[in-house]
Amino acid sequence: MVVDLKIFEGVKTPFYYYDKRLLEATLAEIERCISGHPVKVLYAIKANTNPEILRIVAAHGFGADCVSGNEVDAAIEAGFPAKYIYYAGVGKTDEEIARAIDHNIGCFNIESIEEIEIIAGIAAMKNKTANVALRINPHIDAHTHHYITTGLAENKFGIDITLLEKAVAAVTAHPSLRLIGLHFHIGSQITTMEPYRILCERINAITKQLAHNGIECKFINVGGGLGIDYDRPDANPIADFKGFFDTILGNLDVEPGQIVCCELGRSIVAQCGSLISKVVLVKKGLEREFVIIDAGMSDLIRPALYEAHHKIENISAAPTAEMATYDVVGPVCESADVFGKDEILPTTQRGDLIAIRSAGAYGETMASRYNMRDLPGTLLR
Ligand SMILES: *Cc1c(COP(=O)(O)O)cnc(C)c1O
Repeated sequence: MVVDLKIFEGVKTPFYYYDKRLLEATLAEIERCISGHPVKVLYAIKANTNPEILRIVAAHGFGADCVSGNEVDAAIEAGFPAKYIYYAGVGKTDEEIARAIDHNIGCFNIESIEEIEIIAGIAAMKNKTANVALRINPHIDAHTHHYITTGLAENKFGIDITLLEKAVAAVTAHPSLRLIGLHFHIGSQITTMEPYRILCERINAITKQLAHNGIECKFINVGGGLGIDYDRPDANPIADFKGFFDTILGNLDVEPGQIVCCELGRSIVAQCGSLISKVVLVKKGLEREFVIIDAGMSDLIRPALYEAHHKIENISAAPTAEMATYDVVGPVCESADVFGKDEILPTTQRGDLIAIRSAGAYGETMASRYNMRDLPGTLLR
């Protein structure tokens, strides 16, 4: 990581450092890729709801993809236009639905046939019409970790493709609902374009069938999931947005007037964030040496939860320092509280600063107070 350590002076560790310039460069690259195309990018705010980050993304005119009532409120607060706030989630409560209707959000992404009735009832009670899209599960294996693959046949997300006609009939039967689109989301940390190409083919077949039945969809939402390079954040600081948009725009049949939406989370914010932590002590075991840092799984749970690996750097060590092999672990009382095994780092000492890279997505938002630890701080510069 290239950073002037002076900006970290006096900041209590552990904290998330967000590189504002990289975030801006990432947003600019997305804008460049979609310029002149009928594309609306929604930021999947669950990746990072830091208020400053939300304001920066909103200022670029993006929409917001939300998965809870509080996320909808946060998106409104940060300045995302209600019209481009889309609300997904398999278990929206009545109270959350009512709040979102009161905000006049742009769309509910419906995840089950049962939910159609519930949203229709609440909208009718309020004498309002709710825009809805059907989230269809297209049975695509996105080849990512089993916890973050969502487009396969047997999981809780979306409406099975075999139930599509039934779902369309249910929506159109309700005067308080307006069907405005279809929604898909096939997984996360997808690093090849093949799953997206297959997704486009499935979507083309579906929209063709619906058009044949007289149903037009204004919005085709292809979801998110574009992956980033966790191993080489400096070589690839910006995700392959060009590959992603070229694949979508090159393979999706888009009719005049139709708008393609996508919901990018990780690829927008992951690389601009690092978890900065201090070495509490270096413990010599019998066969291993442990670098014990003041950040733990309560601050960044991805390694413990998904077996994820983030690049680890000693940013205090001199460039000429000799290398050594360490296990880098946190202080939390769980064996899973490990950031890296057999990490090759410069010789590390108590007090050194450690950067855990690519931590801007699903880091701060998943932090907890387990072990009664403080929540991590933040620094955006
Ligand atoms: C989480 C989520 C996203 C964003 O996924 P990323 O992998 O962060 O791009 C998009 N859409 C839906 C419905 C989601 O649940």
